[in-house]
Amino acid sequence: MNERDLRKALGELSTGELHYFDSLGSTNDEALAWATQGAPDLSLVIADEQTAGRGRLGRKWFTPAGTALAFSLIFRPTEVEQAYLSRTVGLAGLAVCRALAGLSMSAELKWPNDVLVFAQKICGILVEAVWTGEDMDCQVIGIGMNLRRESVPEHAQLQFPATSLENLMSPMPERELILHDILAALIELRPKLSSAEFMKLWEEKLAFRGEVVKIQSPEGPTLQGELLGLDSDGSLRLKDENGNPVTVHFGDISLRPAA
Ligand code: ADP
Repeated sequence: MNERDLRKALGELSTGELHYFDSLGSTNDEALAWATQGAPDLSLVIADEQTAGRGRLGRKWFTPAGTALAFSLIFRPTEVEQAYLSRTVGLAGLAVCRALAGLSMSAELKWPNDVLVFAQKICGILVEAVWTGEDMDCQVIGIGMNLRRESVPEHAQLQFPATSLENLMSPMPERELILHDILAALIELRPKLSSAEFMKLWEEKLAFRGEVVKIQSPEGPTLQGELLGLDSDGSLRLKDENGNPVTVHFGDISLRPAA
């Protein structure tokens, strides 16, 4: 992967500028810094290797050289989109699902931020905000997808089972093409972000829908309930063991199947 091939692969897509690195700490950190310096909408930071890739709450995201797709996209919301910023993670997740569907792979979204194929994590998403005082200036959408087998961390380091594209299909398409397909899907879905149809699409892709799941958060007790769907802000709707509705807001939440 190099910058020239990447630019060629992105071709006609209306992305912003592109910064490519052979090795980088974290693409999100680089994109957050670039965003504060005015990077245009849909600018991209791409790295072959991340030495300090991040998950939520400082957890590590493993990206060894030559094995994965790791990039961060700067998302500058329009005035309309400003009211729907909690949906950005769904937009990214749906875009990844669509790109995988193009490879005949049925992916699901483990709320709030992971993409699963056959109930195994193939891709993680980390959306972070850039603030100017009290206003959100823009968001950075970090996406890490496991391509080669070597991109999957050792079993002992995993809190949830993981897989790679190579495990599921052979031969694999070029990284640049997968990147292209994710971005093309995101650009196509973006105008729907504020619509009820968007929430329906997102809900339809939720993993464990209709099943009993466990929700763990560091602050509170573990909650168990049937996963029903999403509220209009992307919060998760459950029915608890007593049949009462419960809403789970974004945060440091771990969702697992109960059984
Ligand atoms: P979760 O949503 O599963 O709680 P995060 O979004 O915080 O997790 O992602 C970080 C976690 O993902 C790490 O603690 C590790 O268990 C796992 N992980 C790290 N790198 C990878 C990878 N390349 N593929 C799959 N899982 C990974």
